[in-house]
Amino acid sequence: MNTILLENNIKDIIKAAEMIKQGKIVGIPTETVYGLCADARNEEAVKAVFRAKGRPADNPLIVHLADFSQAEIYTSYIPDIAYRLAEKFCPGALTMVLPKNDKIPMITSGGLETVGIRIPSHPVMHEVIKISGCPIAAPSANISGLPSPTCAEHVIRDMNGKISAVINGGESQFGVESTVISFDNENRARILRPGAVTKEMLFDICDVVVDSAVLNDLADGAEATSPGMKYKHYSPCADVVMVESSLEDFINLVNENNRDNVYSLIFNGDEKTFPFRYMTYGSDSSEQAHYIFRRLRELDDMGAEKIFVRSPDTEGIGLAVYNRLIRSAGFEVIRIKE
Ligand code: AMP
Ligand code: MG
Repeated sequence: MNTILLENNIKDIIKAAEMIKQGKIVGIPTETVYGLCADARNEEAVKAVFRAKGRPADNPLIVHLADFSQAEIYTSYIPDIAYRLAEKFCPGALTMVLPKNDKIPMITSGGLETVGIRIPSHPVMHEVIKISGCPIAAPSANISGLPSPTCAEHVIRDMNGKISAVINGGESQFGVESTVISFDNENRARILRPGAVTKEMLFDICDVVVDSAVLNDLADGAEATSPGMKYKHYSPCADVVMVESSLEDFINLVNENNRDNVYSLIFNGDEKTFPFRYMTYGSDSSEQAHYIFRRLRELDDMGAEKIFVRSPDTEGIGLAVYNRLIRSAGFEVIRIKE
């Protein structure tokens, strides 16, 4: 298959929407990361999305809609708390897990009776949904297990020849995927995956708990609240190790382990006194979110075999950065107490 590169203009947006209507798959920019988009009701198209990614069949796809009022078409029940959250955070980087109805095939929901619903704010994705008239299933547009794509080139890298087209919409604003929440009861949201809609922001509206799998490996035999928690994720080819320490202790650690193809991922500013091979990934949590997946891909391109990462702050969107990194490290963390 020849994958066409489309531009961010109305003619190409209409073309992409037509392709999706016809059951094809298109890579589309969103404010979180790029998505691999298909009509969520079309079982063949959804199967092709799982195939293109190499994604396990039990890992559900999020369904993207133009407006939260359309969630009523695809779900059987929406609690009040979801409407209150939607008023504040839709459109945006929030996915709410709700009981689905039979308009969403089981293959799309990975065999679950629930469906994750998101209303993206990115104008290109919004227009594609509106013009196609389809509920759009869109996982991140990477090969399963690799870092998510934050620009069209990353999508081409992973998906060239496997999908019909990609719209080039520049770099994704946030750089990490949406916050996924489920509801414990009428008053409490449970964060299954942290993102740009932070626990602090949600807490303004309702009670919030962070599922233990956000920060910890799933215990052997434990059931995942979200299937994605079970799988190795976001990993470059290199072996990633998280390091919680002062800069001085980090430098000592790298010094002891320094050899060819060992790289460090450090904060902006650290490089002033950092004597080894490195890349920086930002000075605050928003910048770190924006750059983290790009840097992991770049380090792979440079031939890194081991990457020591300075552990990020976990406030705000920092929790999302920490969650992605600790998963890309397969939960390998070195803690050096000061
Ligand atoms: P991605 O498609 O790459 O953005 O990943 C979507 C994430 O949302 C995965 O970790 C899924 O397991 C999670 N997810 C999607 N739908 C549901 C659902 N119905 N229940 C629980 N988690 C979900
Ligand atoms: Mg993904």
